[in-house]
Amino acid sequence: MIEDYFVDSYLYEEIEESLKKIATKNDIKVLNVDDVKSNVPDTTWPSIKAIMMNINFYTKVSYQFRLAHELSHLLYGDTSLQDVYQFSEFGKRGEELLAHKNAIKMLMEVERPTNVQSFMEFYDVPSWLFDYVEAEYSLQG
Ligand SMILES: [Zn+2]
Repeated sequence: MIEDYFVDSYLYEEIEESLKKIATKNDIKVLNVDDVKSNVPDTTWPSIKAIMMNINFYTKVSYQFRLAHELSHLLYGDTSLQDVYQFSEFGKRGEELLAHKNAIKMLMEVERPTNVQSFMEFYDVPSWLFDYVEAEYSLQG
């Protein structure tokens, strides 16, 4: 069963659709951009509730995790703190850590792989977040 998670790209598309539905429901605009350089991170502007996802962004982290992270800034973060958010998988403090944690929660509700390790691999979650994923799995039983 776990193997299916790695080969089923259709499932990734479904998850992307589910995340975009969450965006639409909350009046958040998500724009996939493929004509900016690979060093430009995904960017969120709270004032206009807009997210730019850089399709070419040079990172191992999955699109699905990154989008859930950006959505989390707007849905659960304190958007008065910053004018703009730029994705960094190494953001370990404040609003960045909060967005990472809420991305984990959001993805678990959308599509939950069987265990912590398969979650990490399926969504290409930064490895330092393992403990947070594990905590979330324990909470949800
Ligand atoms: Zn962020």
